[in-house]
Amino acid sequence: MEPKLLLVEDEPGMLEEMQTYLHREGFRVLTARTGNEALMLARSERPDLIVLDWMLPEKSGIDVCREIRQTSNCGIIMVTARSDETDKIVGLEIGADDYLTKPFSLRELSSRIRALLRRLRGPEDKPVLLERDNLTISETKCQVFKDGQEIQLTPTEFKILLTLAARPGMVFSRLQLLKAALADEYMGYERTMDSHIRNLRRKLGDDSANPRYIQTVYGFGYRFGEQS
Ligand code: CA
Repeated sequence: MEPKLLLVEDEPGMLEEMQTYLHREGFRVLTARTGNEALMLARSERPDLIVLDWMLPEKSGIDVCREIRQTSNCGIIMVTARSDETDKIVGLEIGADDYLTKPFSLRELSSRIRALLRRLRGPEDKPVLLERDNLTISETKCQVFKDGQEIQLTPTEFKILLTLAARPGMVFSRLQLLKAALADEYMGYERTMDSHIRNLRRKLGDDSANPRYIQTVYGFGYRFGEQS
């Protein structure tokens, strides 16, 4: 099945141009002109990737992105008219995967979409997410091995570990980890993350005073340690 895209843009001419081009490129294409329409379609149609204009009437692309991220891991490319670096940082912080500045060519848009879709599909093609320091994590099998011995983790612990290990060196807040782990059931109890982390470290044989795998970044959250 061809990937399903949702294009969100309030400028009708530009929306139509993108739609026509991407449809010709073989994508299934949905369109929305407002943030609320985008949120509705994101929920009902579950697109693989959303191209989201920053400047929208009623509800901004930022708010739309934030809301979508509470329930979906689909790809999000933010589009803005300003080439302001702070926009980019804000966009990525609230969960956008990539960022495109107007004006851009349709060809560039298409290649960014393909690159992100490839990146998102990545783990399915690679059953082993990570293998190093005697630790093996298999995403598709939901199994973790330390020194060849399987470690029994709860689903929540597994999702936390997976989120951290997928991006070594990247810092995650407790809230981000909680959202990743609990998705829809997320209740906002950031602090419960500490006990999950404690249990994870114990099971991985990680020294909490000097952890090798899951490191504390004070004031921010946790990260999976980079290879030493
Ligand atoms: Ca706009």
